[in-house]
Amino acid sequence: MTATAPREEQLWSRCAGCATLLYRKRLRRNLDVCPECGEHARLGAPERLRQLVDPGSLRLLPDRLPGADPLDFVDVLPYPHRLTGARASTGLAEGVVCATATIGGHPVALAVMDFRFLGGSLGCAVGELITRAAERALDDRTPLVLITASGGARMQEGALSLMQMATVSQAIAALREAGLLTVSVLTDPTYGGVAASFATNTDLVLAESGARMGFAGPRVIRQITGRALPEGFQTADFLLRHGQVDMVVQRRSLRGRLTALLAATRAGRPARPPVPHQEPASHRERLADDGAVVTRPTDPAAEGDAGNAVRDAWDTVRTARHPGRPTTLDYLDSVFDGFVELHGDRLGADCPAIVGGLARLAGRHVMVIGHQKGHTTAELVARNFGMASPAGHRKALRLMRLAARLGLPVVTLVDTPGADPGVSAEEHGQAAAIAENILTLTVLPTPVLAVITGEGGSGGALALAVADRVLMLENAVYSVISPEGCAAILWPDRSAAPQAARALRLTAPDLRRLGVVDEVVSEPSSAAHDDPAETAHRLRAALLANLLPLLDVPPAMLVRLRRQRFRRFGANRVGTRAGLR
Ligand SMILES: [Zn+2]
Repeated sequence: MTATAPREEQLWSRCAGCATLLYRKRLRRNLDVCPECGEHARLGAPERLRQLVDPGSLRLLPDRLPGADPLDFVDVLPYPHRLTGARASTGLAEGVVCATATIGGHPVALAVMDFRFLGGSLGCAVGELITRAAERALDDRTPLVLITASGGARMQEGALSLMQMATVSQAIAALREAGLLTVSVLTDPTYGGVAASFATNTDLVLAESGARMGFAGPRVIRQITGRALPEGFQTADFLLRHGQVDMVVQRRSLRGRLTALLAATRAGRPARPPVPHQEPASHRERLADDGAVVTRPTDPAAEGDAGNAVRDAWDTVRTARHPGRPTTLDYLDSVFDGFVELHGDRLGADCPAIVGGLARLAGRHVMVIGHQKGHTTAELVARNFGMASPAGHRKALRLMRLAARLGLPVVTLVDTPGADPGVSAEEHGQAAAIAENILTLTVLPTPVLAVITGEGGSGGALALAVADRVLMLENAVYSVISPEGCAAILWPDRSAAPQAARALRLTAPDLRRLGVVDEVVSEPSSAAHDDPAETAHRLRAALLANLLPLLDVPPAMLVRLRRQRFRRFGANRVGTRAGLR
């Protein structure tokens, strides 16, 4: 899709659409849209800003954050070398440029992603910068415009990059509460964790002509389904046809469309803010310091792995996937009482990969929602291997909201290789379904307790795991990408999965040290599947110990502390605290 400039001759470039050789100045005058075939070449963030904002109105927001390599990640190259290379080749500090400006005279805060910078991947710094742009919009009471271009989360920052989906989503939620418009403009390409969060949980979603957006990439879907993809799959027109974007906009019309949308909402906005929404920045920072109400620091060495020899990460991955490992329905039987299953998304489907309903925990009523796998091949197939469809995420959303209305705490049990990466899932808005769950959990006015019981696979796991307390069974794993998927991208081939598993820091003790999980629940001597009854006993005790203190916290305070918990995964945290070593 990119217009390529031959190295020896920068004056000409060849159109990726029709192969016409074009004079660069002419192409640029035409906003990098091929005058012959209409192909929209990718734009870097600086050029995009030049095209969109009123001349002289641009004020860049600070983009310097402490350099961070929280996992000491090394594949065939150390991560800091990749960062240095991206900075040198783009002239940018990170994969997003944030600013305030006016568009057609309307003040906005903007965050513009740049695909040239490590594929526009969402790491801690990118998440932090976009969050700050959203907070600036909140402080200035202006709309927020996001221009997305990303392959997804940044693998080299592991689960911390996954957390950015929640961090940015809760900033979007704050704007939603304050009655401030949020607009995302999808550009080519927008995938993975970015698609499944702030690219689709904004008020308005525009797609630039030629953009493609999806939760799973076409290569992954082809690999998993073994089928050819429909014509035009995941293109802007496909997204429009399937109800996932408000409009498809040619680049030359984008500025005008944004101006019209911003004008309409400004006219309709009440003169005074409807509700006070959030403390000023200084108070937020104070809360960051005393957020210990929810995250009681404990000595990681005293938990979980104390009695057992340290396992290799790859062994843990295999244990987490063991077919004998207790499932959500097993725990509903052994840990809870009186489970009454509730079905359906009320939009036409009931997803078997997610089960949920009312239950009691030591006599207290709770809403339990979890991924369901199975022990036999037939069960696994019937449950789609625990990979939820958009209908599953929407069922979970319905049950979370119901729980909040009834004043019931939510307990989630996470065990999924990832969200369903199929063609139908994409057609039904998988990215937006996950994004809405993540956002809703950041504001849900009732206690939420999540447990990673087996596999915590990427956005599909996070869709149930934005919680006040996140527990993790000792042999569970939680990761931004599967080790196999990571190996296929960053190593020469998938056989490097064991190395990738180690590099990703996906085990419970590692994630406890990174603060992604609050407590590790130890398993019986070998693993959960060898003694399910003892595992259930320990899980029940851990659930009660963590849930009871939450019941006394007023809902508004819970939400504030939950947001604080996820706000801390930004680059602030990375800059001020050592990672693993
Ligand atoms: Zn062309």
